Amino acid sequence: MTTTQHALLVEDSPTQALLIMAELERLPGIEVEHATNLASALEAIAKKRFDAVFLDLTLPDSVGDETVRRFCGAAPELAVVVLTNQDDDQQAMSALEQGAQDYMLKARIDSSSLSRSLRYSIHRKRAEIQVRDARDAALEANRQLERRMRQINCLYGVSRVLESHELPLQVALEEVASLVPSAWLRSETIGVRLTCLNGLLPMGYVESQGFVETPWRLEAQVFAGSIPAGRIEICWTEGRPAEGDEAFAATERELVRELARRIGLAMERACVQKELVQLATTDFLTAAFNRRHFLQLAGAELARAGRYGRPVAVMMLDIDHFKRVNDERGHAAGDESLKAFVNLLRDVLRDQDRLGRMGGEEFAVVLPETSMEAAMVVAERVRSRLALLDIPVGSGAPVRLTTSIGIAECKIRDGEGLEACLSRADVALYRAKALGRNRTEAAE
Ligand code: GH3
Ligand code: MG
Ligand code: MG
Repeated sequence: MTTTQHALLVEDSPTQALLIMAELERLPGIEVEHATNLASALEAIAKKRFDAVFLDLTLPDSVGDETVRRFCGAAPELAVVVLTNQDDDQQAMSALEQGAQDYMLKARIDSSSLSRSLRYSIHRKRAEIQVRDARDAALEANRQLERRMRQINCLYGVSRVLESHELPLQVALEEVASLVPSAWLRSETIGVRLTCLNGLLPMGYVESQGFVETPWRLEAQVFAGSIPAGRIEICWTEGRPAEGDEAFAATERELVRELARRIGLAMERACVQKELVQLATTDFLTAAFNRRHFLQLAGAELARAGRYGRPVAVMMLDIDHFKRVNDERGHAAGDESLKAFVNLLRDVLRDQDRLGRMGGEEFAVVLPETSMEAAMVVAERVRSRLALLDIPVGSGAPVRLTTSIGIAECKIRDGEGLEACLSRADVALYRAKALGRNRTEAAE
């Protein structure tokens, strides 16, 4: 079964038109319309779908190549057969280059050549469209593939950074922030900020260089386990991302969620690590350093002081008659009192001083850059303030404590070590006890 084909003849010469129309109408299954200039031809194809056009190049409103270019521009899906007067190969070739599918010499037109050219040009046009579509599809597939490759490479790089256990979280996240933009084509127009809510980063966030907050963004919440732990924000500085015109692609959103998931895992691990370090180095009740860690830190301080010939002092403190607090007010009140004692110490001491719980109600402090005289001032401040401190414990009267203190300045020039220095402070402490408690004694 053949369907009717619609052809349009564009020819301004009435005689030529008559001749060609007559030949065309002899062909079976063809309906022909006629236009006498380019404008009315363009009007005709806008109104109705044609299968092919026979186009005279010399029209009242357009001449030569220009005619082909304008017509093919307006009807890119239409098969065009150009009609030429002279045997001008040059013009015919040029018409084909401008988008026509075939050409015919008017002098040689008859129904069979028209029929052949009609079928040929329609086939050729169809093939051209198929090739064009296939090429577009291939280009689009390539673009998608390239996009996917970038995303995968980015995710791979980020995972490698996050899973490298040697990197501190801050450094790892800084690298992640600088890697993430590589998932997109114009990475220089993209800024990244990673916010961390759980105190693992000193500033609370890291940013890629020149990060600016913009409304063109992709973001996701970061969870450590099920706890909200931060955010990842990716901002386009120069307006809408070129690759995601309307909205972002699903794969891009998925990528950001995946990045957030991996950052969350790294944060969770960092939290656990921090806890482990805390557990290993501090005393559970008072959060002062434990004995082992204190000795480590104090040893390092003494070594530094020795190297640079700087003064350093150590202080031993033992709460007076602490057993009574437990006996009279209970063990929980004793615990509260110990915590209050440590808080007071922290209040009086400087940031660089190190406080350790040596056992029970006995504490030690190492004071860098501190001579015997200066240490004595600190000790007296602790002692006198403690004596005046009301420690609220449950119901009943507040607890009052006093402490005895022994101080020793390290004999740097004699090459005195930590053990010797601490033991001199200890002797001074026991002298303070023996002399009636609630007092400070300097070591010999
Ligand atoms: P002194 O003035 O001679 O130092 O007398 P003291 O009673 O303070 O000394 P002693 O060494 O006889 O007793 C220390 C008490 O500290 C005994 C112990 O029950 C108590 N203690 C040690 N560690 C803790 C603790 O973690 N919590 C509580 N509540 N009490 C503690
Ligand atoms: Mg005591
Ligand atoms: Mg004691």
